Amino acid sequence: MVKVGIHFVKIEDEIEKPKIVAEVKTEFISLQKSLFATMFKQKLIKAFQAIIKNKYFKGIASLFILFVLLDLIFPFRINPNYSTLITDSEGKLLHAFLNKTDKWRMETELNEITPTLEKAIVFKEDRWFRWHFGVNPFAMMRAGVRNIFTGRRTSGASTITMQVVRLLNPQKRTYFNKFIEIFRAIQLELHYSKDEILQFYINLVPYGSNIEGLKSASILYFQKSPNVLSLAEVTALTIIPNRPSSLRLGVNNPYILQERNRWLQNFKEEKVFNAQDIEDAMHEPLNVVRHEAPHLAPHLSLRLKQENPTKSIIKTALVRHKQLTIENIVQNYVSRLYSMNIHNAAVMVINNKTHQVEAYIGSADFNNPIDGGQVDGIRAIRSPGSTLKPLLYATAFDKGIITPKTAINDVPTNFGGFEPENFDKLFHGKITIEYALANSLNIPAVKILKEISTPVLVDKLKKADFQTVKKNSSKLGLSLVLGGCGVTLEELTNLFSAFAQEGNFQKATYTLNTDTKSRIKNEIISKESSYLITQILAQITRPDLPNNYDYTYRMPKIAWKTGTSFGKKDAWSIGYNANYTIGVWVGNFSGEGVPELSGANIATPLLFDIFNTVDYNSSSKWFKAPENIAYRKVCAESGDVPNDFCTHQIVDYYIPSVSKMTKCQHAKYIYVSTDEKISYCSHCLPESGTVQKLYPNYAPELLSWFESKHILYEKVPPHNPKCERVFNTNAPQIVYPVDGSEYFLAKNEDQKLMLNCQVGNEVKTVYWYINDKLLQKASPNTEVFFRPEAGKIKISCSDDKGRNSDIYVEVKWE
Ligand SMILES: [Zn+2]
Ligand SMILES: [Zn+2]
Repeated sequence: MVKVGIHFVKIEDEIEKPKIVAEVKTEFISLQKSLFATMFKQKLIKAFQAIIKNKYFKGIASLFILFVLLDLIFPFRINPNYSTLITDSEGKLLHAFLNKTDKWRMETELNEITPTLEKAIVFKEDRWFRWHFGVNPFAMMRAGVRNIFTGRRTSGASTITMQVVRLLNPQKRTYFNKFIEIFRAIQLELHYSKDEILQFYINLVPYGSNIEGLKSASILYFQKSPNVLSLAEVTALTIIPNRPSSLRLGVNNPYILQERNRWLQNFKEEKVFNAQDIEDAMHEPLNVVRHEAPHLAPHLSLRLKQENPTKSIIKTALVRHKQLTIENIVQNYVSRLYSMNIHNAAVMVINNKTHQVEAYIGSADFNNPIDGGQVDGIRAIRSPGSTLKPLLYATAFDKGIITPKTAINDVPTNFGGFEPENFDKLFHGKITIEYALANSLNIPAVKILKEISTPVLVDKLKKADFQTVKKNSSKLGLSLVLGGCGVTLEELTNLFSAFAQEGNFQKATYTLNTDTKSRIKNEIISKESSYLITQILAQITRPDLPNNYDYTYRMPKIAWKTGTSFGKKDAWSIGYNANYTIGVWVGNFSGEGVPELSGANIATPLLFDIFNTVDYNSSSKWFKAPENIAYRKVCAESGDVPNDFCTHQIVDYYIPSVSKMTKCQHAKYIYVSTDEKISYCSHCLPESGTVQKLYPNYAPELLSWFESKHILYEKVPPHNPKCERVFNTNAPQIVYPVDGSEYFLAKNEDQKLMLNCQVGNEVKTVYWYINDKLLQKASPNTEVFFRPEAGKIKISCSDDKGRNSDIYVEVKWE
C-alpha cells in the first residue's frame, strides 16, 4: 500500500499523468475493496449471528445501518458517457456525434419509451421488474437450483437493474462481484425510479460493433426515433442485446427475422399484445442496413457541442426544412460565383417573434476543405463596411440632432487627418440624411458620428453585445462607422433584429427552452427612431438594389442595409420585416478581396432569395408608426422648421419633444445696390439706392466644393470696398495642414507642404504667413506649396478683410 505515494514523484510529467492517475486510482480501489471486504464480512457475520440467535430486530437494524453506511461510502456514480445529439425544433435528430470512446450511445428520453417498447423489454427480460427491489430472490433461487443440477452458470436470475449495474461496470463473474452487483442494484433502486432504471437499460444495451443503446440502433438501422418504431421493429431490437455479435442487423437479417417471429409467437401465447397486431408484425419484412448517423446543420451542431460538453441532447430551434432549403440555396448561389473567385457565404435567420435562430449556415459547403468549409462564417470576425450606419443615424434621431429630411453636405472633409471617400469616389453636395443612409454615403456618416461622439456609438454596440468592439473600445475612432472595427454576422443579425422589435435588443437563442433570465435584453434605440430607420431602409428606389434585379416576383416587403468592406473583402446584406431578420455575408475565408464583391450586387440577391423562401407570400403587416411619431412641414432646402422665406416645403417625420426645432437659415437677406453689384452691411449702408435681396446661405465647405467643381451658384455681390468694418466672424479656415499634427517629409524626394483654406465668398485674396513672415498672396481656392524648416511652425492665413486664423504643426525631415 505504501507504494501509492511513490507514483506522485513523476506527476509533473504531463504525458504520463493520466496513466499515473489511473494507476493510483486502481490502487485506491483495491485498497477500498479489501477494507470494504474485511469490514463488510465482520459486520455481516455479526448481523447474521444476531438473526440466528433470534434477535431479528437487532440483526435487521444492523444490516440496514450497514447498507446506509456503505451507500454513503460507495455512492453510485453514473456517467453513461452519451453521444451528443442535436435535434431540430420538432425534436427530430439533425446531427449526432460519437461519444468520447467513439461509440454510438444515444440517450433515449423517457418520452421516447413507448408502452409497447416497455412491455416487450419487461416481458422478455424481467417480468417482475415493477415489483422487486433490484433483486428477484425467487428468480435467484430458481437459477441457483438450476446451476446445481446442470452445472452451468446461467444469467437468468439477473434483473434489469442488475443488468444495468453490469453494463455500467462490467466485471468478471465471481461470487464476490455478484455480491457487489446485488448491493449496487439495491442502491440503484433506492436512488432512481423504475422508469429511470429502465431508461438506463435501454440506453446501455449492446447492438454489436460500436452501437450501444436502443436509440442508436433505432436511428442507425431504422432511421427513426424509438417512439415511432413498429411492434416488429421493437421486437427485433429487444432480442439483439442478448447475442449482439451473432444477431447483427444488416448482416444476419433472415436469422433475426426468424428469432423475432419466435418471440412474437411467445408474445401471442402470453397475450402480451393484441393478437392482430402481432399477426401483422409477423408479416413485416426486415430489410434494414446500417446508415450513416445524420450530419445536418454541421456548424451550429459543432458549436453547441463545444459550448455544452456535458449535454447529451441539445434541442435547437432550427427549422429543418428552412435549414436544408437555405443550405441548398447558399451552396448553389456560391457555385455560381465561383468563376468570380468568390468562394464562401454564411447566412443566419432569426424568427423575430420567438427570438430564436431558425437557420444557421456557416459556410457554402461544410465538406469542402479546399475553401475552408468547416470555418463558421457566422462567428468569423470581419469588417462590417457600412452596416453600422443605421444604428448611427438611429442614435442621432434619438439625440434630436437630425430628422430624415435634415440637409447635410457630402463634400470632401478632413476629420483631423482622416479624409473618408465614398464608395463611388464621388461627392454629392447637399443631400438629406435619408438619402445619405439609403445611398450609404461615408462623409455624412462620419460627420454625424463626430457630432454624437464615437463613445456614444461604441456604447450602443456594447449594449448589443459586440465582443470585438467591447475588447477594443478605447482604440476605436471615427472610422468605426465605415467598418473600422471587427464584427460577426451573428452580432450584426442580432443588432438588426432590434430594429424589427421597436429598438429592443434581445439576443436570439439557438436552443429551445433557454433560460430567459440569462438572455441579454437592452433598449438600444427608441421605437420612434427604429421606425424612422425602417422606413428609410425599406425604400426601393436606391442604388443598392442589385443591378438588373428582377423585382417582379412576389417578394415580401423588407427593410435592408448593405455593406462592403474596404478592399472588397466582405459583402453584407442584412434585412428584416416583422417576421424575420436575415443576415447574409459573402466573401472568401482566405480574406482575399474581389473587385466584383459588393453588398448590393453579391449579397443582396442571396438575401432576397432567402426572404422569398422563408417568408414567401407572407400575410404579416408592415410596422405601424409608434404614437409619438408625428409629421411636420419642413423647408426642403435644410429640413429645418420653415422660415418666412422658405417657399419650398415638404413633409417630414419628427419625434415631438426630441427632434430639434431649429428655424431654417437656408437663405439670408442682404442689402445690395440696385444693380446688384455691391453688397452692404448695416455699418456701410448708404441712405438710398439699395434693395434688400435674399441670397442662399451656403456653408463655406459647400462653397469651396462648388468652386473646385466649377458649379455655378448664386453669389452675394462683393462687399462695399469702402466699408471700414472688420468682420470678426467668418475668418478663413485652414483646412490643410491640420492644426496640431506632425508631418514627416522625405528629404530625398524634396517634398513640400500644401496650404489650403476655406473662406466666405466675399473674399478675393488671402495672405499666407509662416512664423509671422508673409509667404505668399493667393486667391482663396489656390493650393499653395512650400518647403518648411524642421520643428514647430506657426501657419497663419489672413483674408482681404483683415480676418485671421493661426495653426501650429510639427515638421520632421527623414
Ligand atoms: Zn429654408
Ligand atoms: Zn460693410
